[in-house]
Amino acid sequence: MNPIVVKFGGSSLATAGQFEKVAAIIRENPGRRYVVASAPGKRFSGDTKVTDLLYRCYDAACAGQDFAPVLDEIRQRFADIISELQLQVDLAPDFAAIEAHLRTSPQRDYMASRGEYLNSKLLAAYLGFAFVDAAQMVLFRADGSFDAEATNTAIGHALVSIDRAVIPGFYGAMPDGTIHTFSRGGSDVTGSIVARAVGAELYENWTDVSGILMADPRIVDNPEPIKKITYAELRELAFMGATVLHEESVQPVREKGIPLNIRNTNRPQDPGTMIVGNIDRENSDDRFITGIAGRKNFTIITLQKHDMHTSHTLRQALEVFERYHAPIEHIALGLDSFALVTSSAGLGESIYQLMGDLQKACHPDDINQQDDIALVAAVGRKMPFRPGTSGKLFKALGDAGVNIRTIAQGTDELSIIVGIDNKDYETAIRVLYDGFAG
Ligand code: ASP
Repeated sequence: MNPIVVKFGGSSLATAGQFEKVAAIIRENPGRRYVVASAPGKRFSGDTKVTDLLYRCYDAACAGQDFAPVLDEIRQRFADIISELQLQVDLAPDFAAIEAHLRTSPQRDYMASRGEYLNSKLLAAYLGFAFVDAAQMVLFRADGSFDAEATNTAIGHALVSIDRAVIPGFYGAMPDGTIHTFSRGGSDVTGSIVARAVGAELYENWTDVSGILMADPRIVDNPEPIKKITYAELRELAFMGATVLHEESVQPVREKGIPLNIRNTNRPQDPGTMIVGNIDRENSDDRFITGIAGRKNFTIITLQKHDMHTSHTLRQALEVFERYHAPIEHIALGLDSFALVTSSAGLGESIYQLMGDLQKACHPDDINQQDDIALVAAVGRKMPFRPGTSGKLFKALGDAGVNIRTIAQGTDELSIIVGIDNKDYETAIRVLYDGFAG
């Protein structure tokens, strides 16, 4: 049987009690052979993640301040776990090395990586697994870009003869051995590239929520978790603002067709969310809407011109947008008009100049700008197979007094996106959830 790669996030490994839960989960299924660990996260709300303490230590050292109190705090976090679990691990030499490093030539990524490094050592000792340092197999080029192919080969070689291992997440090394990290939350990425390299049958990402929720819980009361979602749907949801996994963590497993299961360390009985490559869209008995997400603060710019040669005028307008590096989220086409949706924050004050340039480039009969627009996406792989879908959605929104400013269908008919006023954002999400997500 191919191995299961499991990644545990910071809150799953923040205390000795959490280590016990993690060990029980790993022992429950012998297939869980490769474990990727984060640094200890928050133990309670208001607590500080070890990674943040490490950054603080680095900043203090660079500013010539006394870093010893912060370093002691970090030392204590690990000492608590060691003593409560009665581990036979001595981290004194590691802390001596960190201290020496801080006194000589502090390096930001090296410091940040020590949380994962030390926590993985503890977890390996607790589980009786081998500790394999990510620095020897997660490889970055000299310019800091991630070298996917070299990493894939290196992980394959390093793990081929090791049956069970704990691997620190978040970092790797450049050709000269200098430690380099992914961006924050990067242990998700390490888990995914290890899963790809060992040809895992499943990548489990254990965190503190029972999967991806169907809607934002700050807007909808107790939204249900999504049971199953395709990688394509996840991308649409993530693009529209739903954040669950590190952005770069999806591609390696997606490419290999490895399913990714998001699970809750504190509720291992919950199935979580299963992310898969393909589902028989037409015949599956899944829900009509998989999830709802959205973002506020967009601007719609509408151009009208009698007898417009759409492709020509649109090209001229797009060139203007490109000059201003203004991202285009959606384009709606009419017979003699088109509307472009862009992020207001991205443009700031230059919107006025951009409007002037559009006038000059396109000579429209009318040009109009609507601000304070929110985009809301209803994502669902089954939508194209249900006739009348969009009509029902629009009617429900209209009945709730939500004025629809623009409509777009996402790629591959996976989503319907509506542009509405910012003030209607919450109402629209609730209407869609209550009416269509159940
Ligand atoms: N410990 C790192 C962070 O806090 C990486 C991770 O947890 O994935 O961002």
